[in-house]
Amino acid sequence: MSQFANYIDGQWVEGASASRNVNPSNLDDIIGEFAQADADQTQRAISAARRAFAQWSMSTPQQRFDLLDQVGSSILARKAELGRLLAREEGKTLPEAIGEVGRAGQIFKFFAGEALRIGGETVPSVRPGMTVEVTREPLGVIGLITPWNFPIAIPAWKIAPALAYGNTVVIKPADLVPASTWELVRIIAEAGAPAGVINLVMGRGAVVGEALVSSPDVDAVSFTGSVSTGRAIGAKCFASGKKFQLEMGGKNPMVVLDDADLDVAVEACINGAFYSTGQRCTASSRLIVTEGIYDRFIDAMKVRMRALKVGDALDAGTHIGPVVDDKQLQQDERYIAIAREEGGTVFGGERIERGTRGYFLSPALVTDTTPAMRINREEVFGPVASVIKVKDYNEALSVANDTEFGLSAGICTTSLKYSSHFRRHVQAGMVMVNAATAGVDYHVPFGGRKGSSYGPREQGSYAREFYTVVKTAYVSPGAV
Ligand code: NDP
Repeated sequence: MSQFANYIDGQWVEGASASRNVNPSNLDDIIGEFAQADADQTQRAISAARRAFAQWSMSTPQQRFDLLDQVGSSILARKAELGRLLAREEGKTLPEAIGEVGRAGQIFKFFAGEALRIGGETVPSVRPGMTVEVTREPLGVIGLITPWNFPIAIPAWKIAPALAYGNTVVIKPADLVPASTWELVRIIAEAGAPAGVINLVMGRGAVVGEALVSSPDVDAVSFTGSVSTGRAIGAKCFASGKKFQLEMGGKNPMVVLDDADLDVAVEACINGAFYSTGQRCTASSRLIVTEGIYDRFIDAMKVRMRALKVGDALDAGTHIGPVVDDKQLQQDERYIAIAREEGGTVFGGERIERGTRGYFLSPALVTDTTPAMRINREEVFGPVASVIKVKDYNEALSVANDTEFGLSAGICTTSLKYSSHFRRHVQAGMVMVNAATAGVDYHVPFGGRKGSSYGPREQGSYAREFYTVVKTAYVSPGAV
């Protein structure tokens, strides 16, 4: 079986121990043994990043462009192979996985360009003879902690801007899915990143993540994952004066109004709620439907759901791959049971047997729910959507905003009036009109409000707000 090492200071280094990466579509398929770092190894990676920062922070925009552009090209050239690996380790379908790899490649291409566009500005001073110059500088060593649901795209959208703006990186991917990030780091190393500029330490959050967050040599932490972990990391970063950025959960509403095109609405809800096995922070988990279209909508959803094929992520024709692991599967089933106990009616949501041992669950639609039920308040993170029936648009908007989260929101309507009002008044970082709440572009800001996010946006040119620090310089010609 293959062994995959940590990458520290330009060297592949065995871990203190190792863990197995298992295919959730087929538990007999072991992807490999992956090194587990301990706190000492993590500290060595941080020290290497600190040393490398001295030079990398002074590299030219051209050097950074060349590295990132090369990485983007390599990822795109290996899209099919890397997509297959990603589908094997995480369980999203092969087309979804190839799409995610393609997105990672595009992200590197975009930030290659950003390295050249960093710029700055010169502002006339209010004082005679003085000039003011506003520039951006890299922060230093960035610790990156990523979740399991986008094993290459999320590492890419954190690593690429960090490097583009002259920082060095220590990344800890989710223990469940280290293979895609391992391949990404190898690509960056082979593209010529100097030793210490990118470091990979795999292992448990409680060990490696904790060491990253508590090290005084880490200047900033960018985290994506659950609310509870994110808040704990944020508190520690705040206490030690680190800059931090948190992208966390969602309970994203999708409003369907009486005047919606039924086919468009059903397609947006099926995609948003169930594709990628519902394991997206932007998943449409609350479907808020007005009473005039309600019965037709539910009937059409059930017809579409019956036609969805749940199975091995690598099989052609699979629409929904397995749940990522047993723990998540149990969480999905627990929430389905809670929804029933609280008075909901559940369609689907059953374990499915396939030719291989895997974590297969049919998509679940929970009707007869109210906004106060736990299924409408807590993130499930599986192929489970609930439906809330409302009287009209005003009630729909109010229910949409009745949540502690605020990542993504959608509306299906043919009314310009309602779509405009919703875009302005829904409390979310991203809004979709007649489209699924999940599925975003790579060159524009990504992030949410309320309990979903903390700190500046990720992606697009807005990413520089987190990965750089602003300097204001006052220049006087001095005595002449
Ligand atoms: P977790 O919060 O459990 O883990 C996220 C990362 O944090 C993992 O790498 C994990 O390590 C690490 N971690 C865990 N404990 C600590 C700690 N004490 N100190 C430092 N790091 C730690 O989330 P999941 O990976 O389970 O991902 C699912 C969750 O993430 C969902 O709730 C989902 O909503 C959210 N999410 C949000 C996104 C967004 O952009 N808003 C995107 C994707 C997911 P380990 O390897 O041990 O698990």
